[in-house]
Amino acid sequence: MTPDPIMSDCFSSTYAEARSKFLSACRDAGATTRSYVNPNGLGPEGEELATDTAWFGPADARNVMLVSSGTHGQEFYAGAATQVYWALSKSYEALPKDCAVLFVHATNPFGTAVMSRNDENNVDPNRNFLDHDFGHYTDPDFDLVVDILRVSAPTEAEYQRVADTTEALFEKHGHDRIFALTAEGQFAYPKLGGFAGIAPVWTNETVRRIVAEQLADAAHVAAIDWHSGVGDPKTLFYLCFDEPGSPEFRRACDWWGEEPIVQGTQSFVGHVRPQFRGLLVKGIGQALAPEQAYTKVIIEFGTYPWSEVRKALLADQWLRFGPGEKSNEVVAECRDFMLERFCPADKDWRDWAIGAGMDVYGKTLAGLAGASLR
Ligand SMILES: [Zn+2]
Repeated sequence: MTPDPIMSDCFSSTYAEARSKFLSACRDAGATTRSYVNPNGLGPEGEELATDTAWFGPADARNVMLVSSGTHGQEFYAGAATQVYWALSKSYEALPKDCAVLFVHATNPFGTAVMSRNDENNVDPNRNFLDHDFGHYTDPDFDLVVDILRVSAPTEAEYQRVADTTEALFEKHGHDRIFALTAEGQFAYPKLGGFAGIAPVWTNETVRRIVAEQLADAAHVAAIDWHSGVGDPKTLFYLCFDEPGSPEFRRACDWWGEEPIVQGTQSFVGHVRPQFRGLLVKGIGQALAPEQAYTKVIIEFGTYPWSEVRKALLADQWLRFGPGEKSNEVVAECRDFMLERFCPADKDWRDWAIGAGMDVYGKTLAGLAGASLR
């Protein structure tokens, strides 16, 4: 019997390292891999940037589990490690009948490589899957939150200033209202967080191309888009956007558990869940044909309290557009700070993340294999 792979070996700390681990694990497993190269530039080490896919199981399987990592570049590293572990542990040998797995690795390779949430044009890919012909409305109140989305330096004093200003805005205008403004996506400030873009970005076009090229024959697709940083540490936080009571919502509850699915519709880091627009999981659904069944969820690996995760978002914004000198040392410090908040180095946390990921994959495949779509 082959020994289990070492969980901590499946994690990487750079995009190039992760890409090489992913491609070699999948190719050694006999998966069919494809690379979708991003033509908009190279990574910080001069490396090629691409979204890679790997298909496990019968080419004509009716049921396909699609697993994407790195839609938010900073949040890539835990989800990607579960993809590698699944391949190395030969989980494909136990695929249920008529099921296949499609791994989509680094949907936002630029953000992944530079440890940024957004893409090469500072577009948040998980706000970009919109009908761009419909117009680009930004709530005029967005101006209220501009100053809590940036810092003048990546220092504790600046993070504290933002935390205090945020508290004051919460008191004056209401927690949920202010939080929603920061989270729902905006079109007015291309150099700030939540910029949703004014046309489909490369990630959006590439994901839709992958769906068209690789999923056209599937009868039922189940999509999991991995994120991290939301939810209690060492807990999976589920974001399901189907209408409660709909067959899709029912399936999500049956497969992944009613309690976490319902909980994830009710609150989000202590606020009413914002009306997120332009999500990748919705874009996949729009790229599928109406007769193809679709079950989807966003899952977050809980890492640190939200107050810490917020600092990493501010550090990201400062690195890209903030004032002041950005020496190699400062850049490396910020990078380590962000990686720790989205993918803690602690061995217990990483072992937990791999175990939790394998559990989700098992439940999803069992759900797909047993789903009755009537
Ligand atoms: Zn995310």
